[in-house]
Amino acid sequence: MDRYTELSVELVLKNGRIVTPEGVFPGGVAINEGKIVVVAGDPNLPVGDRTIDVEGKHILPGVVDPHTHPGKRDFATDIMNESSVATIGGTTTMGAIIKSSRMGSGWSNDPPKQVSYKETFPAAKKAVEDGALIDIFYNFAIATDEQALEIPFYAKEYGVTSYKFYLGYMGGNRITRRRGLGLFASRLGIPDGFDDGTIYLGFESIGKLGPPCMAHIHAENTFIARIFFKRILKEGRGDMAGWSAISPGWLEAIHIRNYAYLAKMTGAPLYVVHINSAEGVDQVLKARADGTEIYAEANPQHLWIDETQDPPGMYGKLTPPIRDRANNDKLVSALRDGGIFCMGTDHVPSMPDDNVGPGFVTEDMEVYRGAGGIGMQTHLPSMLSEGVNKGRLSLERTVEVCCKNSAWAAGLYPKKGALIAGADGDVVVVDMKLTKKVTQETIQSKFNAFFRERELTGWPVMTILRGNIVFEDGQITGKPGTGKYLPRKLGSQLYPVS
Ligand SMILES: [Zn+2]
Repeated sequence: MDRYTELSVELVLKNGRIVTPEGVFPGGVAINEGKIVVVAGDPNLPVGDRTIDVEGKHILPGVVDPHTHPGKRDFATDIMNESSVATIGGTTTMGAIIKSSRMGSGWSNDPPKQVSYKETFPAAKKAVEDGALIDIFYNFAIATDEQALEIPFYAKEYGVTSYKFYLGYMGGNRITRRRGLGLFASRLGIPDGFDDGTIYLGFESIGKLGPPCMAHIHAENTFIARIFFKRILKEGRGDMAGWSAISPGWLEAIHIRNYAYLAKMTGAPLYVVHINSAEGVDQVLKARADGTEIYAEANPQHLWIDETQDPPGMYGKLTPPIRDRANNDKLVSALRDGGIFCMGTDHVPSMPDDNVGPGFVTEDMEVYRGAGGIGMQTHLPSMLSEGVNKGRLSLERTVEVCCKNSAWAAGLYPKKGALIAGADGDVVVVDMKLTKKVTQETIQSKFNAFFRERELTGWPVMTILRGNIVFEDGQITGKPGTGKYLPRKLGSQLYPVS
Protein backbone atom coordinates (compact mmCIF):
# COMPACT_ATOMS: atom_id res chain seq x y z
CA MET A 1 0.00 0.00 0.00
CA ASP A 2 3.04 2.31 0.40
CA ARG A 3 2.93 3.45 -3.18
CA TYR A 4 -0.39 5.23 -2.61
CA THR A 5 1.14 7.62 -0.08
CA GLU A 6 2.90 9.21 -3.07
CA LEU A 7 -0.43 10.05 -4.67
CA SER A 8 -2.45 13.17 -4.17
CA VAL A 9 -6.20 12.61 -4.16
CA GLU A 10 -9.27 14.81 -3.87
CA LEU A 11 -10.63 13.69 -0.50
CA VAL A 12 -9.23 11.75 2.46
CA LEU A 13 -11.08 10.74 5.60
CA LYS A 14 -8.66 9.65 8.32
CA ASN A 15 -8.48 8.62 11.96
CA GLY A 16 -11.81 6.81 11.87
CA ARG A 17 -12.96 3.24 12.32
CA ILE A 18 -13.63 1.47 9.03
CA VAL A 19 -16.58 -0.91 9.10
CA THR A 20 -16.95 -3.79 6.64
CA PRO A 21 -18.89 -7.07 6.94
CA GLU A 22 -15.55 -8.70 7.85
CA GLY A 23 -14.59 -6.42 10.71
CA VAL A 24 -13.87 -3.00 12.16
CA PHE A 25 -10.38 -1.51 11.96
CA PRO A 26 -8.76 1.92 12.48
CA GLY A 27 -7.96 4.02 9.44
CA GLY A 28 -9.60 5.91 6.64
CA VAL A 29 -10.52 6.09 2.96
CA ALA A 30 -9.22 8.10 0.04
CA ILE A 31 -11.51 9.11 -2.82
CA ASN A 32 -10.47 10.42 -6.21
CA GLU A 33 -12.59 11.19 -9.28
CA GLY A 34 -15.65 9.79 -7.54
CA LYS A 35 -14.13 6.43 -6.69
CA ILE A 36 -12.49 4.90 -3.65
CA VAL A 37 -8.77 4.49 -4.33
CA VAL A 38 -7.45 3.37 -0.94
CA VAL A 39 -8.91 1.97 2.27
CA ALA A 40 -6.11 1.69 4.82
CA GLY A 41 -4.62 2.57 8.17
CA ASP A 42 -3.70 6.25 8.49
CA PRO A 43 0.04 5.83 7.74
CA ASN A 44 -0.81 4.30 4.36
CA LEU A 45 -3.31 6.92 3.23
CA PRO A 46 -2.33 9.31 0.44
CA VAL A 47 -2.28 13.09 0.72
CA GLY A 48 -5.65 14.71 0.11
CA ASP A 49 -6.52 18.07 -1.44
CA ARG A 50 -8.97 18.01 1.44
CA THR A 51 -8.38 15.86 4.52
CA ILE A 52 -11.03 15.38 7.19
CA ASP A 53 -10.17 13.99 10.62
CA VAL A 54 -13.13 11.85 11.74
CA GLU A 55 -11.76 10.91 15.17
CA GLY A 56 -14.15 8.86 17.22
CA LYS A 57 -16.46 8.20 14.28
CA HIS A 58 -17.17 5.11 12.17
CA ILE A 59 -16.81 5.02 8.40
CA LEU A 60 -19.39 2.86 6.60
CA PRO A 61 -20.28 2.33 2.94
CA GLY A 62 -23.23 4.48 1.84
CA VAL A 63 -26.53 2.74 2.54
CA VAL A 64 -28.25 1.08 -0.44
CA ASP A 65 -32.02 1.17 0.05
CA PRO A 66 -33.70 -1.04 -2.56
CA HIS A 67 -37.28 -0.25 -1.58
CA THR A 68 -38.73 3.26 -1.92
CA HIS A 69 -41.87 4.67 -3.51
CA PRO A 70 -41.63 8.10 -5.08
CA GLY A 71 -44.58 9.07 -7.26
CA LYS A 72 -47.47 9.27 -4.88
CA ARG A 73 -47.54 12.96 -5.73
CA ASP A 74 -45.69 14.69 -8.55
CA PHE A 75 -42.99 12.22 -9.56
CA ALA A 76 -40.11 14.62 -10.28
CA THR A 77 -40.78 16.53 -7.04
CA ASP A 78 -40.73 13.30 -5.05
CA ILE A 79 -37.46 12.23 -6.67
CA MET A 80 -35.84 15.52 -5.76
CA ASN A 81 -37.21 15.81 -2.22
CA GLU A 82 -36.84 12.21 -1.09
CA SER A 83 -33.36 11.73 -2.57
CA SER A 84 -32.40 14.88 -0.69
CA VAL A 85 -33.63 13.87 2.79
CA ALA A 86 -32.26 10.35 2.24
CA THR A 87 -28.77 11.77 2.87
CA ILE A 88 -29.73 12.54 6.49
CA GLY A 89 -29.90 8.79 7.09
CA GLY A 90 -26.73 7.97 5.16
CA THR A 91 -28.48 6.57 2.10
CA THR A 92 -26.54 7.15 -1.12
CA THR A 93 -28.34 4.71 -3.45
CA MET A 94 -32.08 4.40 -3.70
CA GLY A 95 -34.07 1.77 -5.53
CA ALA A 96 -37.39 3.26 -6.58
CA ILE A 97 -40.28 0.89 -7.24
CA ILE A 98 -42.44 2.63 -9.80
CA LYS A 99 -45.70 2.06 -11.62
CA SER A 100 -46.14 3.12 -15.23
CA SER A 101 -49.56 4.52 -14.37
CA ARG A 102 -48.26 6.75 -11.61
CA MET A 103 -45.55 8.60 -13.46
CA GLY A 104 -46.40 12.22 -13.02
CA SER A 105 -50.14 11.83 -12.69
CA GLY A 106 -50.05 11.86 -8.90
CA TRP A 107 -52.03 9.70 -6.56
CA SER A 108 -55.76 9.87 -7.19
CA ASN A 109 -58.86 7.83 -7.75
CA ASP A 110 -58.93 8.60 -11.46
CA PRO A 111 -58.71 5.27 -13.21
CA PRO A 112 -55.00 5.09 -14.04
CA LYS A 113 -53.83 3.46 -17.24
CA GLN A 114 -51.45 0.51 -16.86
CA VAL A 115 -49.30 1.47 -19.85
CA SER A 116 -45.97 0.21 -21.20
CA TYR A 117 -42.85 1.56 -19.48
CA LYS A 118 -41.70 2.59 -22.96
CA GLU A 119 -44.12 5.51 -22.52
CA THR A 120 -42.95 6.52 -19.07
CA PHE A 121 -39.28 5.57 -18.58
CA PRO A 122 -37.74 8.55 -20.45
CA ALA A 123 -39.44 11.00 -18.07
CA ALA A 124 -38.46 8.90 -15.06
CA LYS A 125 -34.81 8.91 -16.12
CA LYS A 126 -34.91 12.66 -16.72
CA ALA A 127 -36.36 13.21 -13.24
CA VAL A 128 -33.23 11.59 -11.77
CA GLU A 129 -30.81 13.44 -14.03
CA ASP A 130 -32.43 16.81 -13.31
CA GLY A 131 -33.24 16.53 -9.66
CA ALA A 132 -31.71 13.65 -7.72
CA LEU A 133 -29.17 14.19 -4.93
CA ILE A 134 -28.23 10.51 -4.69
CA ASP A 135 -27.97 7.68 -7.22
CA ILE A 136 -31.21 5.97 -8.20
CA PHE A 137 -32.17 2.73 -9.92
CA TYR A 138 -35.64 1.64 -10.92
CA ASN A 139 -37.71 -1.41 -10.17
CA PHE A 140 -40.76 -1.69 -12.45
CA ALA A 141 -44.08 -2.94 -11.05
CA ILE A 142 -45.45 -5.49 -13.51
CA ALA A 143 -49.23 -5.49 -13.82
CA THR A 144 -50.07 -6.39 -17.44
CA ASP A 145 -49.11 -9.12 -19.90
CA GLU A 146 -47.64 -6.45 -22.17
CA GLN A 147 -45.30 -5.23 -19.44
CA ALA A 148 -44.32 -8.82 -18.52
CA LEU A 149 -43.47 -9.57 -22.16
CA GLU A 150 -41.41 -6.38 -22.45
CA ILE A 151 -39.13 -7.29 -19.52
CA PRO A 152 -36.25 -8.35 -21.84
CA PHE A 153 -36.50 -4.96 -23.58
CA TYR A 154 -36.53 -3.07 -20.26
CA ALA A 155 -33.54 -5.06 -19.00
CA LYS A 156 -31.44 -4.53 -22.13
CA GLU A 157 -32.42 -0.96 -23.00
CA TYR A 158 -33.02 0.61 -19.58
CA GLY A 159 -30.83 -1.54 -17.31
CA VAL A 160 -33.82 -2.40 -15.14
CA THR A 161 -33.35 -5.85 -13.63
CA SER A 162 -35.73 -5.88 -10.65
CA TYR A 163 -39.45 -6.28 -11.14
CA LYS A 164 -42.14 -6.01 -8.53
CA PHE A 165 -45.30 -8.10 -8.44
CA TYR A 166 -47.93 -6.68 -6.09
CA LEU A 167 -49.48 -10.00 -5.14
CA GLY A 168 -51.35 -8.27 -2.29
CA TYR A 169 -53.21 -6.12 -4.80
CA MET A 170 -53.48 -8.50 -7.75
CA GLY A 171 -57.24 -8.49 -7.21
CA GLY A 172 -57.37 -4.78 -8.11
CA ASN A 173 -60.13 -2.58 -6.73
CA ARG A 174 -62.51 -5.51 -6.55
CA ILE A 175 -60.48 -6.99 -3.70
CA THR A 176 -59.28 -3.77 -2.02
CA ARG A 177 -62.96 -2.71 -1.72
CA ARG A 178 -63.92 -5.99 -0.07
CA ARG A 179 -60.90 -5.83 2.22
CA GLY A 180 -62.00 -2.42 3.46
CA LEU A 181 -59.37 -0.44 1.57
CA GLY A 182 -61.71 1.26 -0.89
CA LEU A 183 -60.08 2.09 -4.20
CA PHE A 184 -56.57 1.54 -2.89
CA ALA A 185 -55.58 -0.49 -5.97
CA SER A 186 -56.41 2.56 -8.11
CA ARG A 187 -54.11 4.64 -5.99
CA LEU A 188 -51.39 2.07 -6.47
CA GLY A 189 -52.00 2.29 -10.20
CA ILE A 190 -53.39 -1.22 -10.67
CA PRO A 191 -57.20 -0.72 -10.66
CA ASP A 192 -57.97 -3.85 -12.68
CA GLY A 193 -55.39 -6.11 -11.07
CA PHE A 194 -53.80 -9.05 -12.88
CA ASP A 195 -53.60 -12.81 -12.55
CA ASP A 196 -51.18 -15.72 -12.28
CA GLY A 197 -50.78 -15.71 -16.06
CA THR A 198 -49.19 -12.26 -15.93
CA ILE A 199 -46.99 -13.36 -13.05
CA TYR A 200 -45.95 -16.48 -14.96
CA LEU A 201 -44.99 -14.43 -18.05
CA GLY A 202 -42.93 -12.11 -15.87
CA PHE A 203 -41.16 -14.86 -13.96
CA GLU A 204 -40.45 -16.71 -17.20
CA SER A 205 -38.77 -13.62 -18.73
CA ILE A 206 -36.74 -13.02 -15.57
CA GLY A 207 -35.62 -16.64 -15.37
CA LYS A 208 -34.49 -16.63 -19.00
CA LEU A 209 -32.57 -13.35 -18.68
CA GLY A 210 -30.57 -14.63 -15.72
CA PRO A 211 -28.53 -12.58 -13.21
CA PRO A 212 -28.93 -10.00 -11.92
CA CYS A 213 -32.66 -10.14 -12.75
CA MET A 214 -34.98 -10.85 -9.83
CA ALA A 215 -38.72 -11.07 -9.22
CA HIS A 216 -39.80 -9.05 -6.18
CA ILE A 217 -43.07 -9.93 -4.49
CA HIS A 218 -45.32 -8.20 -2.00
CA ALA A 219 -46.57 -11.39 -0.34
CA GLU A 220 -49.97 -11.01 1.32
CA ASN A 221 -53.08 -12.96 0.41
CA THR A 222 -55.70 -10.23 0.49
CA PHE A 223 -58.37 -12.56 -0.91
CA ILE A 224 -58.33 -14.27 2.49
CA ALA A 225 -57.73 -10.99 4.38
CA ARG A 226 -61.18 -9.76 3.32
CA ILE A 227 -62.70 -12.52 5.49
CA PHE A 228 -60.69 -11.38 8.52
CA PHE A 229 -61.58 -7.77 7.79
CA LYS A 230 -65.31 -8.55 8.13
CA ARG A 231 -64.74 -10.52 11.34
CA ILE A 232 -62.53 -7.90 12.99
CA LEU A 233 -65.00 -5.18 11.99
CA LYS A 234 -67.85 -7.15 13.60
CA GLU A 235 -65.83 -7.60 16.79
CA GLY A 236 -65.33 -3.83 16.90
CA ARG A 237 -61.57 -4.05 17.41
CA GLY A 238 -60.32 -0.56 16.78
CA ASP A 239 -56.71 -0.95 17.90
CA MET A 240 -53.48 -1.55 16.04
CA ALA A 241 -53.56 -5.25 16.96
CA GLY A 242 -56.98 -5.46 15.27
CA TRP A 243 -55.54 -3.89 12.14
CA SER A 244 -52.71 -6.41 12.24
CA ALA A 245 -55.14 -9.33 12.74
CA ILE A 246 -56.80 -8.59 9.36
CA SER A 247 -53.63 -9.83 7.72
CA PRO A 248 -52.06 -12.54 9.93
CA GLY A 249 -48.51 -13.67 9.19
CA TRP A 250 -49.57 -16.88 7.52
CA LEU A 251 -51.17 -14.87 4.70
CA GLU A 252 -47.67 -13.68 3.91
CA ALA A 253 -46.34 -17.22 4.27
CA ILE A 254 -48.91 -18.75 1.91
CA HIS A 255 -47.82 -16.44 -0.92
CA ILE A 256 -44.12 -17.08 -0.28
CA ARG A 257 -44.76 -20.82 -0.36
CA ASN A 258 -46.78 -20.71 -3.60
CA TYR A 259 -44.67 -18.26 -5.55
CA ALA A 260 -41.39 -19.81 -4.41
CA TYR A 261 -42.61 -22.89 -6.26
CA LEU A 262 -43.37 -20.83 -9.38
CA ALA A 263 -39.95 -19.21 -9.05
CA LYS A 264 -38.32 -22.62 -8.92
CA MET A 265 -40.28 -23.80 -11.97
CA THR A 266 -39.31 -20.72 -14.02
CA GLY A 267 -35.76 -20.20 -12.71
CA ALA A 268 -36.55 -16.68 -11.54
CA PRO A 269 -34.70 -15.70 -8.34
CA LEU A 270 -37.33 -14.58 -5.83
CA TYR A 271 -36.98 -11.52 -3.58
CA VAL A 272 -39.57 -11.06 -0.85
CA VAL A 273 -39.99 -7.37 0.02
CA HIS A 274 -40.86 -6.20 3.55
CA ILE A 275 -40.95 -9.65 5.17
CA ASN A 276 -42.84 -9.10 8.40
CA SER A 277 -43.82 -12.43 9.92
CA ALA A 278 -42.12 -15.38 11.56
CA GLU A 279 -44.31 -17.64 9.39
CA GLY A 280 -42.99 -15.90 6.29
CA VAL A 281 -39.38 -16.49 7.37
CA ASP A 282 -40.15 -20.21 7.90
CA GLN A 283 -41.38 -20.48 4.32
CA VAL A 284 -38.28 -18.70 3.00
CA LEU A 285 -36.08 -21.25 4.78
CA LYS A 286 -38.16 -24.16 3.50
CA ALA A 287 -38.06 -22.87 -0.08
CA ARG A 288 -34.30 -22.42 0.14
CA ALA A 289 -33.88 -25.95 1.47
CA ASP A 290 -35.98 -27.07 -1.50
CA GLY A 291 -33.47 -25.50 -3.90
CA THR A 292 -35.24 -22.22 -4.67
CA GLU A 293 -33.10 -19.11 -5.03
CA ILE A 294 -34.88 -16.83 -2.58
CA TYR A 295 -33.98 -13.66 -0.65
CA ALA A 296 -35.94 -11.80 2.00
CA GLU A 297 -35.76 -8.09 2.76
CA ALA A 298 -36.89 -6.66 6.10
CA ASN A 299 -37.79 -3.06 6.95
CA PRO A 300 -36.91 -1.30 10.25
CA GLN A 301 -40.55 -0.60 11.18
CA HIS A 302 -41.23 -4.35 11.33
CA LEU A 303 -38.20 -4.97 13.55
CA TRP A 304 -38.22 -2.11 16.02
CA ILE A 305 -41.85 -0.99 16.37
CA ASP A 306 -44.56 -3.24 17.78
CA GLU A 307 -48.33 -3.07 17.84
CA THR A 308 -48.53 -1.96 21.47
CA GLN A 309 -46.43 1.15 21.03
CA ASP A 310 -47.88 4.63 21.11
CA PRO A 311 -46.37 6.44 19.33
CA PRO A 312 -46.83 5.44 16.60
CA GLY A 313 -50.49 4.89 17.55
CA MET A 314 -52.63 5.54 14.50
CA TYR A 315 -49.55 6.40 12.49
CA GLY A 316 -48.60 2.75 12.66
CA LYS A 317 -51.47 1.81 10.38
CA LEU A 318 -49.29 0.31 7.71
CA THR A 319 -49.56 -2.39 5.08
CA PRO A 320 -48.17 -4.88 5.74
CA PRO A 321 -49.07 -4.41 9.40
CA ILE A 322 -46.82 -3.98 12.39
CA ARG A 323 -47.00 -7.08 14.61
CA ASP A 324 -46.17 -8.05 18.18
CA ARG A 325 -42.81 -8.06 19.94
CA ALA A 326 -42.38 -11.86 19.89
CA ASN A 327 -42.80 -11.85 16.10
CA ASN A 328 -40.41 -8.93 15.70
CA ASP A 329 -37.76 -10.65 17.82
CA LYS A 330 -37.92 -13.67 15.50
CA LEU A 331 -37.36 -11.37 12.53
CA VAL A 332 -34.31 -9.85 14.25
CA SER A 333 -32.81 -13.27 14.92
CA ALA A 334 -33.47 -14.24 11.28
CA LEU A 335 -31.66 -11.07 10.24
CA ARG A 336 -28.71 -12.08 12.44
CA ASP A 337 -28.46 -15.67 11.22
CA GLY A 338 -29.12 -15.17 7.49
CA GLY A 339 -32.80 -16.14 7.20
CA ILE A 340 -33.30 -12.50 6.17
CA PHE A 341 -30.84 -11.34 3.53
CA CYS A 342 -31.00 -7.54 3.48
CA MET A 343 -32.73 -4.37 4.60
CA GLY A 344 -34.89 -1.78 2.82
CA THR A 345 -37.39 0.81 4.01
CA ASP A 346 -40.64 0.84 1.95
CA HIS A 347 -40.29 4.62 2.14
CA VAL A 348 -43.60 6.20 1.05
CA PRO A 349 -43.85 9.97 1.24
CA SER A 350 -47.32 10.41 2.71
CA MET A 351 -48.88 12.93 5.06
CA PRO A 352 -49.66 11.81 8.63
CA ASP A 353 -53.41 12.20 8.02
CA ASP A 354 -53.25 9.95 4.96
CA ASN A 355 -53.05 6.90 7.17
CA VAL A 356 -55.44 7.81 9.91
CA GLY A 357 -59.06 8.07 8.86
CA PRO A 358 -61.73 7.49 11.48
CA GLY A 359 -60.02 4.47 13.05
CA PHE A 360 -57.87 1.43 12.51
CA VAL A 361 -60.70 -0.80 11.32
CA THR A 362 -63.84 0.86 10.00
CA GLU A 363 -66.50 0.06 7.43
CA ASP A 364 -65.58 2.88 5.12
CA MET A 365 -61.86 3.26 4.83
CA GLU A 366 -62.11 5.37 1.69
CA VAL A 367 -60.18 7.96 3.66
CA TYR A 368 -57.36 5.47 3.94
CA ARG A 369 -55.06 7.03 1.41
CA GLY A 370 -51.65 5.72 2.25
CA ALA A 371 -49.95 2.51 3.12
CA GLY A 372 -46.77 3.60 4.71
CA GLY A 373 -44.49 6.25 5.96
CA ILE A 374 -41.06 7.60 5.41
CA GLY A 375 -38.09 5.61 6.53
CA MET A 376 -34.93 6.62 4.68
CA GLN A 377 -33.87 9.27 7.21
CA THR A 378 -34.23 6.84 10.13
CA HIS A 379 -33.18 3.65 8.35
CA LEU A 380 -29.54 3.39 9.42
CA PRO A 381 -30.11 5.33 12.70
CA SER A 382 -32.80 2.84 13.77
CA MET A 383 -30.51 -0.10 12.98
CA LEU A 384 -27.65 1.48 14.95
CA SER A 385 -29.85 2.54 17.84
CA GLU A 386 -32.16 -0.44 18.32
CA GLY A 387 -29.85 -3.07 16.82
CA VAL A 388 -26.18 -2.27 17.42
CA ASN A 389 -26.33 -0.03 20.49
CA LYS A 390 -28.75 -2.41 22.22
CA GLY A 391 -26.60 -5.43 21.47
CA ARG A 392 -29.08 -7.17 19.14
CA LEU A 393 -27.05 -6.87 15.94
CA SER A 394 -23.35 -6.42 15.21
CA LEU A 395 -22.09 -3.37 13.37
CA GLU A 396 -20.51 -5.68 10.78
CA ARG A 397 -23.79 -7.47 10.07
CA THR A 398 -25.59 -4.10 9.90
CA VAL A 399 -23.24 -3.01 7.12
CA GLU A 400 -23.69 -6.35 5.42
CA VAL A 401 -27.51 -6.15 5.35
CA CYS A 402 -27.92 -2.39 4.75
CA CYS A 403 -25.11 -1.92 2.22
CA LYS A 404 -23.49 -5.04 0.78
CA ASN A 405 -26.43 -7.42 0.43
CA SER A 406 -28.96 -4.85 -0.74
CA ALA A 407 -26.46 -3.73 -3.40
CA TRP A 408 -25.73 -7.33 -4.38
CA ALA A 409 -29.40 -8.25 -4.83
CA ALA A 410 -29.81 -5.21 -7.07
CA GLY A 411 -26.82 -6.23 -9.23
CA LEU A 412 -24.80 -3.21 -8.06
CA TYR A 413 -22.23 -4.79 -5.76
CA PRO A 414 -19.33 -3.95 -5.43
CA LYS A 415 -19.81 -0.67 -7.34
CA LYS A 416 -22.16 0.18 -4.46
CA GLY A 417 -22.23 -1.09 -0.87
CA ALA A 418 -18.49 -1.71 -0.51
CA LEU A 419 -15.46 0.10 0.90
CA ILE A 420 -12.92 -1.23 -1.58
CA ALA A 421 -10.69 0.31 -4.21
CA GLY A 422 -12.64 0.75 -7.44
CA ALA A 423 -16.04 1.13 -5.77
CA ASP A 424 -17.96 4.39 -5.99
CA GLY A 425 -16.86 6.86 -3.32
CA ASP A 426 -20.09 6.53 -1.33
CA VAL A 427 -19.36 6.80 2.36
CA VAL A 428 -21.24 7.60 5.53
CA VAL A 429 -19.53 8.84 8.69
CA VAL A 430 -21.45 7.81 11.78
CA ASP A 431 -21.40 9.04 15.37
CA MET A 432 -22.53 6.02 17.38
CA LYS A 433 -23.15 8.15 20.48
CA LEU A 434 -25.18 10.96 18.91
CA THR A 435 -28.78 10.98 20.15
CA LYS A 436 -31.54 12.75 18.26
CA LYS A 437 -35.30 12.68 18.60
CA VAL A 438 -37.18 11.91 15.38
CA THR A 439 -39.12 15.11 14.66
CA GLN A 440 -40.13 17.03 11.56
CA GLU A 441 -37.02 19.15 12.09
CA THR A 442 -34.45 16.37 12.47
CA ILE A 443 -35.69 14.46 9.46
CA GLN A 444 -36.52 17.64 7.52
CA SER A 445 -39.87 16.35 6.37
CA LYS A 446 -43.52 16.96 7.12
CA PHE A 447 -44.44 13.44 6.07
CA ASN A 448 -45.53 10.59 8.30
CA ALA A 449 -42.32 9.23 9.83
CA PHE A 450 -41.55 5.87 11.34
CA PHE A 451 -40.08 6.26 14.88
CA ARG A 452 -41.71 9.68 15.23
CA GLU A 453 -41.14 11.22 18.66
CA ARG A 454 -38.68 8.45 19.55
CA GLU A 455 -35.04 9.06 20.45
CA LEU A 456 -32.49 7.17 18.40
CA THR A 457 -28.77 6.93 19.20
CA GLY A 458 -26.32 6.55 16.30
CA TRP A 459 -26.65 9.02 13.39
CA PRO A 460 -24.71 9.99 10.29
CA VAL A 461 -22.75 13.21 10.65
CA MET A 462 -21.53 13.17 7.04
CA THR A 463 -22.77 11.51 3.86
CA ILE A 464 -20.62 11.38 0.74
CA LEU A 465 -21.80 10.47 -2.77
CA ARG A 466 -19.04 9.68 -5.29
CA GLY A 467 -16.69 12.01 -3.41
CA ASN A 468 -19.25 14.84 -3.03
CA ILE A 469 -20.27 15.74 0.52
CA VAL A 470 -24.07 15.77 0.30
CA PHE A 471 -24.87 15.96 4.03
CA GLU A 472 -22.78 17.41 6.83
CA ASP A 473 -23.52 18.33 10.47
CA GLY A 474 -27.28 18.29 10.07
CA GLN A 475 -27.30 20.21 6.78
CA ILE A 476 -28.09 18.83 3.33
CA THR A 477 -25.27 20.19 1.21
CA GLY A 478 -25.82 18.24 -2.00
CA LYS A 479 -27.36 19.84 -5.07
CA PRO A 480 -30.15 18.49 -7.26
CA GLY A 481 -28.60 16.75 -10.24
CA THR A 482 -25.64 15.33 -8.26
CA GLY A 483 -27.33 11.93 -8.39
CA LYS A 484 -27.22 9.67 -11.42
CA TYR A 485 -29.55 7.10 -12.93
CA LEU A 486 -28.03 3.65 -12.35
CA PRO A 487 -28.56 1.11 -15.14
CA ARG A 488 -27.71 -2.45 -14.12
CA LYS A 489 -25.71 -4.81 -16.34
CA LEU A 490 -26.92 -8.18 -17.53
CA GLY A 491 -24.68 -11.23 -17.42
CA SER A 492 -23.48 -11.34 -13.80
CA GLN A 493 -24.76 -10.77 -10.31
CA LEU A 494 -21.61 -8.74 -9.64
CA TYR A 495 -21.22 -5.31 -11.19
CA PRO A 496 -17.88 -5.02 -12.96
CA VAL A 497 -15.64 -2.35 -11.38
CA SER A 498 -12.27 -1.24 -12.62
ZN1 LIG B 1 -43.27 -1.08 -0.91
